[in-house]
Amino acid sequence: MTDAPPRKANRTGFLESDRVRTVDLPQDGRLLAITKSIESAMKAGQSAAIRRACADFFAATSQFYRVPNCGVRVLAARPLRVRENWATELFGDYAPETMLIRVWMRTAVRKEITSFGTFLSTLCHEFCHHLDYQQFGFPDSWHTRGFYERTATLYHHARGTPPKRLFWVPVAGGRWRIDWPHTNRGW
Ligand SMILES: [Zn+2]
Repeated sequence: MTDAPPRKANRTGFLESDRVRTVDLPQDGRLLAITKSIESAMKAGQSAAIRRACADFFAATSQFYRVPNCGVRVLAARPLRVRENWATELFGDYAPETMLIRVWMRTAVRKEITSFGTFLSTLCHEFCHHLDYQQFGFPDSWHTRGFYERTATLYHHARGTPPKRLFWVPVAGGRWRIDWPHTNRGW
């Protein structure tokens, strides 16, 4: 589900974020090599190796997009206290003022372990927040259709899976949600 469009002041940035549906991608397998090592470290339950591979992932993406490197903390479980004034996703967050990404391996309540796919998608999602501020220069990082499509582009490239076109349906308040049956069908 996308965020509702903001009031006047930030509308231009919001529309731009909604309009830009893709990101440039490295023309080599550098991200895939790193995500493979994240996957095998997760399978083996080696937290030091997971942390190292996540740091490699953000070093490689930050270098490719020519933005300052963001910090990363890989946490075992979701913190009980999450940042105020900042949207916290189920498995991660990003603080624009410190450029710090936090991701966690388990949800707070049900203690479920994150799957590799969800974990990688969280890394890509939080990194796209970083790009919104550091590359696009947006005053805020909205969850627009463009944001989700940029994230999906990066995710599929980094995972080595075919890109998937997202289909959207409008909902109340100028928001959109992904039509999953349509998206999974692909046409
Ligand atoms: Zn987000």
